[in-house]
Amino acid sequence: MSKNNDKKLKIGIYELTGCAGDGLLILDCEMELVDIFQAADIQSFLMAKSDNIDGELDIALVEGSVSTEREIEELKDIRKRAQVVVAFGLCATHGGIQARFSEEEWQKNLKEVYGDIEMSHTKAVHSKPIDEYIDVDLYLPGCPVSKDQFLNFLVRALGGSPPEVYPNPVCVTCKYNENDCLLLKGIPCLGPLTADGCGAICPNHNVPCYGCWGPAEGANFTSEFYLLQEKGFDMEAIKKRMANYSGTKLQEFFEKFKKESQ
Ligand code: SF4
Ligand code: SF4
Repeated sequence: MSKNNDKKLKIGIYELTGCAGDGLLILDCEMELVDIFQAADIQSFLMAKSDNIDGELDIALVEGSVSTEREIEELKDIRKRAQVVVAFGLCATHGGIQARFSEEEWQKNLKEVYGDIEMSHTKAVHSKPIDEYIDVDLYLPGCPVSKDQFLNFLVRALGGSPPEVYPNPVCVTCKYNENDCLLLKGIPCLGPLTADGCGAICPNHNVPCYGCWGPAEGANFTSEFYLLQEKGFDMEAIKKRMANYSGTKLQEFFEKFKKESQ
């Protein structure tokens, strides 16, 4: 990530479909907010300012999944204008909880919620992560991203460095913290599958990880699936739990799994 000579980095923060929790997280950096706006040239951030500019950017942070035709166009426009596009938060990196496994499942959900209402201003499309439509340079997962993760990213970006990566699953930190393993007690924890970055905050409090940082690199879904089956959970319950925050990224796994077990 190169600095724009001695000029401030031009940053745009954009929200597609989601709860806006990642944008809110930035606003929640109350002690650092003035410094953030002084250190970087925040060109666009609808939640924080009204004089937004759609110009060339060094970095675009894109939150939310792509859920309408208008968002596809908006995203492609951002890609054209930004040197670096960052998928910001789990909806952008993995599709979030609104992403469904299949087009049929999504159609069914859409009908249940909206019935036969005709949408006039844009057309809804199956919610997907942003890299289904554009090339993405960096991924900052989390639902929402954590404050430390965002500030760390920003400080490193201002210095021209790439963000820190979190290669381990939640279990590694959980073990460092000497927690009793919840899986061994028959509680369906997704720590082995989930990228760490949160410091294993849930199992630290005896609550199972439900996967909000998205799948860890190289996560062994098959092994966790059989383990949960052994603990007495059925396929639908396991699928629902695993898919909650993995969005469309687990579709292939379950389709293959279903075929093999038929
Ligand atoms: S409690 Fe969860 S995160 Fe901790 S070691 Fe067990 S499976 Fe992993
Ligand atoms: S432990 Fe799991 S569910 Fe809890 S914050 Fe971390 S990644 Fe999210």
